[in-house]
Amino acid sequence: MLNVENVRKTFGAVTVLDGVNLTVKPGEVVSVLGSSGSGKSTLIRCINGLERLDGGRITVDGFDVSRPKELAEARKRSGTVFQLFNLYPHMTALRNITLAPIEVLKRPKAEAEAEGRALLASVGLEDRADAYPAQLSGGQRQRVGICRALAMKPSYLLLDEVTSALDPEMTAEVLNILAKLAGNGTTMVFVTHEIEFARQISDRIVFLEKGVLLVDLPTRDFFAQDGGLAQPRVAQFLSKMR
Ligand code: ADP
Ligand code: MG
Repeated sequence: MLNVENVRKTFGAVTVLDGVNLTVKPGEVVSVLGSSGSGKSTLIRCINGLERLDGGRITVDGFDVSRPKELAEARKRSGTVFQLFNLYPHMTALRNITLAPIEVLKRPKAEAEAEGRALLASVGLEDRADAYPAQLSGGQRQRVGICRALAMKPSYLLLDEVTSALDPEMTAEVLNILAKLAGNGTTMVFVTHEIEFARQISDRIVFLEKGVLLVDLPTRDFFAQDGGLAQPRVAQFLSKMR
């Protein structure tokens, strides 16, 4: 399980995460909604051990991200794709994907490359293995980014607004891949503004507001008048987004 327990994060005098609790079980798809600045990216960065916590605890399959000796194990289990394309620009698509399996997991190069090519094929990019990021469209880059995360065989796939820098056509390309992964039982924490898509693929939806996790409900209940919509902030957010 991925366990976020009473997490607090401050930047100077600003409390960005305020007692956040979240549990993600294997096989679940959990979408994280909330206005810009509500703390969604900070939450993902905390799960990755990229931020020091000011309170609480995060464990990934039992490994505590705040303990230096456990962080590497925790990170192997949570593959992350960020909003901005964070591929290595001087490496081909295939090399971006195989780097960590070879260097971190010590996988034989031929094996890692065969798996990398299979991953590229699964996202419709079998013929782009040797392309550099600059030669790929934004949607193609994000699909390579997803392959790179999956190459580590993570228990959890964390996605932070992976489509928000893409045009509608490229967004659709990437969402199709994510729908396929959700259908295959991939466990995902999905930060997004794609409300309708989140509604289709999520088991649960959580809503962050100014660092407080206001709502955590099964998807159907989140969109129900007597469920998430009974929260004025959620109703307001959803009406703005549509
Ligand atoms: P979201 O992803 O929901 O838009 P963020 O997690 O990026 O929100 O940011 C939450 C709040 O934390 C914002 O007010 C943002 O300005 C602030 N913040 C994020 N990162 C830093 C940082 N490194 N230093 C100071 N403030 C930050
Ligand atoms: Mg963000």
